[in-house]
Amino acid sequence: MTASEHQGFNTRAVHAGQAFEPRTGAVVPPLHFSSTYAQDGIGGLRSGYEYGRGGNPTRDALQEQLAALELGTHAYSFSSGLAAEDALIRALTRPGDHIVLGNDAYGGTYRLISRVLGDWGIGNTPVDMANLDTVRQAVAANRTRFVWVETPSNPLMKITDIAALADIAHDAGALLVVDNTFASPYLQNPLALGADVVVHSTTKYIGGHSDVVGGAVVVKDADLAEKIGFVQFAVGAVSGPMDAFLTTRGLKTLGVRMDRHSENGQAVAEWLLERPEVEAVLYPGLPSHPGHELAKKQMRKFGGMVSVQFKGGEAAARKVAESTSVFTLAESLGGIESLMNYPSEMTHASVKGTELAVPVNLLRLSCGIEDVEDLIADLDQAFTSIP
Ligand SMILES: *Cc1c(COP(=O)(O)O)cnc(C)c1O
Repeated sequence: MTASEHQGFNTRAVHAGQAFEPRTGAVVPPLHFSSTYAQDGIGGLRSGYEYGRGGNPTRDALQEQLAALELGTHAYSFSSGLAAEDALIRALTRPGDHIVLGNDAYGGTYRLISRVLGDWGIGNTPVDMANLDTVRQAVAANRTRFVWVETPSNPLMKITDIAALADIAHDAGALLVVDNTFASPYLQNPLALGADVVVHSTTKYIGGHSDVVGGAVVVKDADLAEKIGFVQFAVGAVSGPMDAFLTTRGLKTLGVRMDRHSENGQAVAEWLLERPEVEAVLYPGLPSHPGHELAKKQMRKFGGMVSVQFKGGEAAARKVAESTSVFTLAESLGGIESLMNYPSEMTHASVKGTELAVPVNLLRLSCGIEDVEDLIADLDQAFTSIP
């Protein structure tokens, strides 16, 4: 069967773009490795396929699945999340344009915008996205083309009102871009809340098994789609067939994984909240979180990402990070296995010393799908190492 937009999320996840192969009936669409396609006479293309950079059936299947899950009309898949962001920015901005982004944006996004695209004439202003007046002023101060937000943000887990930001961006003639990597399309659909563009690092929850690097851009407007599709083709940072296949396979189980990630995240956050060593727990599922009500409104559940700050400062955070055994100390997030990250020296090392720097007493946990008792027991024993 094929999927329709009226079907539920999990049905679309399993079926969108995944029709069985007509010749043999193979239920899983075959992986197409071919870099080129035979022509029936010059220019006689079969189903539009000409050359692998421009089109590949395995990549197309993933793109169709991504568009169906983000409630977009077009999706483009890339070799990494940053390649997707680079294609998006180059497709839709020109020298002299400006990007207003969160002051706790993913470090790699800030590095791309400030240190690569800055030299090509793209300006940027990092602001606190939760403060809508500040955002409005920053947008008005320049020729703003994009308002760029991550919600929940990384690693401070701030929640921003997507619908309100869309209004601010549109009033100024700008577009709202939402990096939906942390929530995943199962928990939140920014295009339905008024955003113009969704970007993903599919390396994280979408792939979900920490075995493939990739990125995606999803839109609901044919004109934006055409420009992004052109850069995907003309620059060529496409996902390879194997990467696209692995990402599609991961995406089919996104809903069931996110249910468990969210359950485990909630339980770990509640356990941390009771611990005397802990200064603050940053998790939108806690009623004490300043964004809790807003998160309830724009997200289905709260996900598996939990940040924690220690009263014992940097020394305590470092000690815990190096004392777990179920949580693996590693960058990245969103896989079935639990990971722990010390952002100030790891994922966010590139923004050290800038206004995007992360507190040194903070650890970021990506709660996997293991049994939650084992996650909590692991943290419990790691806490005994705190000096
Ligand atoms: C990882 C990540 C990116 C970058 O994606 P890559 O696949 O590593 O290139 C962008 N945004 C967020 C929120 C991320 O976590």
